[in-house]
Amino acid sequence: MRIAMLNPPYRYGQDPEQWITVPPQGYGGIQWVVAALIDGLLAAGCQVLLLGAPGSVARPGLSVSAATTPDTALEALQDFAPDVVHDHTNGTLLPADGLWPTVRTHHLNGIPTYRANGVYLSRAQRQAAGSIAAPIIRLPVNPSRCTYREVKQDFLLFLGRVSVHKGAREAAAFARAAGLSLKIAGPAWERSYLDQILADFAGTADYIGEIGGTDRTDLLADARALLVLSQPWNGPFGGEWIEPGATVVSEAAASGTPVIASDNGCLPEIVPHVGAVIPAGHIPRPREATRLLASLPAAPDLRRTAREHWGHDVIAEKYLTVYARAAVGTAWI
Ligand code: UDP
Repeated sequence: MRIAMLNPPYRYGQDPEQWITVPPQGYGGIQWVVAALIDGLLAAGCQVLLLGAPGSVARPGLSVSAATTPDTALEALQDFAPDVVHDHTNGTLLPADGLWPTVRTHHLNGIPTYRANGVYLSRAQRQAAGSIAAPIIRLPVNPSRCTYREVKQDFLLFLGRVSVHKGAREAAAFARAAGLSLKIAGPAWERSYLDQILADFAGTADYIGEIGGTDRTDLLADARALLVLSQPWNGPFGGEWIEPGATVVSEAAASGTPVIASDNGCLPEIVPHVGAVIPAGHIPRPREATRLLASLPAAPDLRRTAREHWGHDVIAEKYLTVYARAAVGTAWI
């Protein structure tokens, strides 16, 4: 099958001369999802054209287009003649239905711009988008792109946008209750929010900036646990923040690292397999935090669960079924 993969074309924050590639140089959940899915599709024998991520490395079966606009994307698509277009850009690169069979994965909150043939990441996200029948396919991870370690170090990890809705402050409060340090990694676009955390949790919270490469994979593998304490208020797209898919959960599990999450959005659907869930806004007291950390699954179980539930090959198979439905003209909302 010939699949055109549309990635959102964003500039890389650390060097605006570069586009964020697939996989990304630093922060980039959608780019990691697209990378893992392409790994799975290539292994299944597909031909893939990647658009919206110039600078990404081509390899057998994968070609990389320089297109970053709807006009240039249209030209590249005409040349490639895909069986299916898979849009991860909410219509940014293909603002029209009906040109090719198209499947659109919704990565954000709320109602997508193009609802036809949508794929959602969680029941919570699908419900908020007003869909009942669209498929839910979890975010993939390629375990061979992660570092797996069974021996952990004595720190907790926050990895993501340092934002109110991602719960960095709640993560620092949890770490203090647990008597452990917290490493905070990720872009801090709301600088005053970060500064307040560092002031209020001095001695517990340490900010190491946006990371990529082996810094990222080592941290994911070494942490005692990843904290994903997303909160339902102050969403960046207006209204309530509903964690849509949470790439970091499968990445941590594939690295042998358990997750402690809030019950926001997708998290109660996916985290019970690989960790523990606490109510949003609840900060455990020391004894509860220690008990939670002691109750988490062991690294080999986490790695196995990540492969079984979210492995790139497993998720690619699910998408191939959905592509086949779209290719024969089936439509859904
Ligand atoms: N990430 C990274 N470097 C950082 C912070 C985050 O590589 O400094 C990655 C992280 O590993 C994950 C992605 O960025 O792949 C964030 O995706 P997620 O779905 O967790 O959050 P969102 O897309 O909602 O921001």
